[in-house]
Amino acid sequence: MGLGDFFKNIFGKKTCAFCGGECGMLSRTKIKGDEYICSKCDDMCSFHIQKYRFTKDELRGHMEYMKRSDRIYKEVILPNIQKHERYPSATNRQGIEFFDDFGMFRIIDGSKDNKEQYPKELFRYDQVASYEPYIEESEETDENGKTRTVFGEGGIRITLVGGRDDTTTMRKGLRAHPYITEEITVCFATNDREKEDYLKYAENAIHHFNYIFGVNDDQKGLFSFGMSTKEKRDLKAAVAFTKTAFDAVKVAKDGGEISEEKKAEIMENMNAIDDAQTGGLAKYTRAADAAEAKIN
Ligand SMILES: [Zn+2]
Repeated sequence: MGLGDFFKNIFGKKTCAFCGGECGMLSRTKIKGDEYICSKCDDMCSFHIQKYRFTKDELRGHMEYMKRSDRIYKEVILPNIQKHERYPSATNRQGIEFFDDFGMFRIIDGSKDNKEQYPKELFRYDQVASYEPYIEESEETDENGKTRTVFGEGGIRITLVGGRDDTTTMRKGLRAHPYITEEITVCFATNDREKEDYLKYAENAIHHFNYIFGVNDDQKGLFSFGMSTKEKRDLKAAVAFTKTAFDAVKVAKDGGEISEEKKAEIMENMNAIDDAQTGGLAKYTRAADAAEAKIN
C-alpha cells in the first residue's frame, strides 16, 4: 500500500454497512470484517458493547434485540408501572432505574436518553453476576508540599453474566446476557461538589440490589423475633413441595383431569420451590419472562 492509499484509508470516507451512508473518520467505528458503522446507526446499539467485536450480521441481530427492549420499555413497563426506584432521582449524567415488578432495570444516561433513535435498553435482574460501588481518587501535592486526596469519580460497577461464564459455579437461576461481556460502569458523580450526595445514591442503589438478590435474607431484624425472610421462603417451599408431590401422586393414580384451579395451585407451589432454590430470584425471572412475552 502506498502512502497515498494509507491516508485515503484512514481519512477517506467509508460507507456505513447498515444505512449505506458515507461516514467520515470522526463519525464511524470499525466493526469486525473490515466494515464500518456510522454514528447514527451506532446510536441504535447498546453503548455498553464494543462494536469491533461484532460482525455486520451480529450487529443487525443486536439492533433487533435493542428495538425489542425499547418496545418492552414503552409498551409494557411505562403504561403499567406502579412504582419504580431511581437513583439519582434526577440526573443529567448516569443513574439506575429499577423496575421490580418487571424484574428489570435500566441505566439512565443523560447524553443518550434524549436522542430520539436511541432505544431504551433493559437488563434483567437475573443477568447480574455482581455489583459493587467504586470511587476513583488521586493524591495531589500543592506547592507547600501538602498532599490531599482529590475525588475523581464514583458510582457503581455491574458485571453481567457473560456467554462464556460458567453459570454452574454461580448462584442458581442466573442467565447469560446475549451481547455484553464487559463490566458496566455507572458513573454518578465526577466532581467534588456532588460527591457526598451522589455517593449516597450509589449506596441506595447497592442497597436495592442487595434487596433483589436477598443478600440479607438470612438475617433476622434486630428487634424481630420471627423467622428471617430465608426461613419463611424455605418453609413455604417445603410445604409447597409436599403438596405438589401429593397432587402428582393423586393424578398418576386416579388419572384423568386436573381442574384449572388445581393447575394454578400446582404452578404456584412450583414457583415457591423455585424461589427458595434461587434465593428469591426466580420471582424476578418470572416477571421478566412475562414482560418479554408481551412483545413478539
Ligand atoms: Zn449508518
